[in-house]
Amino acid sequence: MAEKIVIIGAGPVGSLAALYASQRGYLVEVYELRPDLRDPGTVPLNFTKSINLALSERGINAMRYAGNEELLDHVMASTIPMRGRMIHSVGPDGKLTQQSQDYDAQGRAIFAIDRAGLNSRLLDILDRDPNVKLFFNHKLTGADFHARKAWIEVRDKTSPPNSRPKEIEISFDLMIGADGAHSAVRYHLMKFARVNYAQEYVDTLWCEFRIEPRPRSERSLGPSAKFRISPNHLHIWPGKDFMFIAIPSDDGSFTCTLFLPSQQVAELEKNPEQLPAFFDQHFPGVTQLIPAKELLASFKSNPHLPLISLKCSPYHYESSGVIIGDAAHAMVPFYGQGMNAGMEDVRILFSILDKHSQMNESNDPTAELSVAKDAAALSMQRAQALAEYSAVRSIDAHTINELALQNYVEMRSSVLSKRYRLRKFLEEF
Ligand code: FAD
Repeated sequence: MAEKIVIIGAGPVGSLAALYASQRGYLVEVYELRPDLRDPGTVPLNFTKSINLALSERGINAMRYAGNEELLDHVMASTIPMRGRMIHSVGPDGKLTQQSQDYDAQGRAIFAIDRAGLNSRLLDILDRDPNVKLFFNHKLTGADFHARKAWIEVRDKTSPPNSRPKEIEISFDLMIGADGAHSAVRYHLMKFARVNYAQEYVDTLWCEFRIEPRPRSERSLGPSAKFRISPNHLHIWPGKDFMFIAIPSDDGSFTCTLFLPSQQVAELEKNPEQLPAFFDQHFPGVTQLIPAKELLASFKSNPHLPLISLKCSPYHYESSGVIIGDAAHAMVPFYGQGMNAGMEDVRILFSILDKHSQMNESNDPTAELSVAKDAAALSMQRAQALAEYSAVRSIDAHTINELALQNYVEMRSSVLSKRYRLRKFLEEF
């Protein structure tokens, strides 16, 4: 009988892990705390609606090796290439300027993608996979990595609001925790493994805004006509200590994010009517793209959320548990690599599991008779693989975390020309 892999969290990383596991013949069960995001009216985690992310080679490569031919074609069909960043500022003559800075000398791009769209594609593929069972409204509440058992709270939509949720017990051979920054799997794994753990909240909050598509009546001809600014750039309004960014969407709109120190957010919360003037001072041109009324409405209604950066190591316990994605290394979004690195975790984890299973089969002449079916040998082989995964991956993930922190300075300040920064510096004196 095939071994059972239980995956906690059906975000982009957990869903991709389910696909990789199923391709290798495991029985896969995925437990997700929230309702199915494909159901109309389901609000995505932390966001008022789905947001756009930058998909780059790490994530693309992980999907390329998922063993499903349609996945990458379908996903890439709804992306928008961003060949560089567009820096918005005011020139020496006081006029608005836009400076395009290409990401790659050979013209390679990163891609704007709708997070929910990507997640939905993965779930659609899993739905059709006979090896995979998806359970929504199922929350992990406890796990015993010795006994390989876990406890799941089932939230039944039909039960009365204040009634106690039902709890079920499940078993597993391997649990993969892909349950995000506040991972319950990590919490329980840390009772079994000696995990070094550090987390940091940076002093910046983020809030979501939106640039609407250009109205039909104002459009000229051509595929870019629905966009108010270039669709092939990640737009940055650097503010030195803060910034505003915009990423294009298929429908002609842009998902925008304000990153601002908490003290300044608090001041604007007290006096929200100052927001348009704040934007005019620091993010020139934005109020021409987002009318002041909409700017205020978004600031008031959308949450002001913190940014966490966390590192831990090791990521596994013996052969029964491992954490991936944000559960293992949530990072600040300034390098655009959180989801990409999480997807890369999946590719690397399964390549190491594959390597160990092939090594053991070829080394052991009795493989056919015993090893393939011997649970103890399989368990030892997997424990070696997970130990290698933790050792290899934590070094890279810690480095990406650091780069993400450093890239905030690059995006909000260093992207500006030396002359501009000097002028700003002198203005402050
Ligand atoms: P999540 O997306 O957090 O998914 C975890 C899932 O687990 C959720 O569905 C949750 O409901 C479920 N869950 C949680 N607890 C339980 C439980 N107890 N039981 C069952 N299920 C549970 N990354 C990029 O690569 N590029 C970008 O451009 C980018 N931009 C970003 C911009 C912002 C403003 C932010 C905040 C993040 C950005 N990121 C970006 C990071 C990216 O969003 C995350 O790295 C990515 O979503 C992590 O995926 P995940 O599947 O590991 O975790």
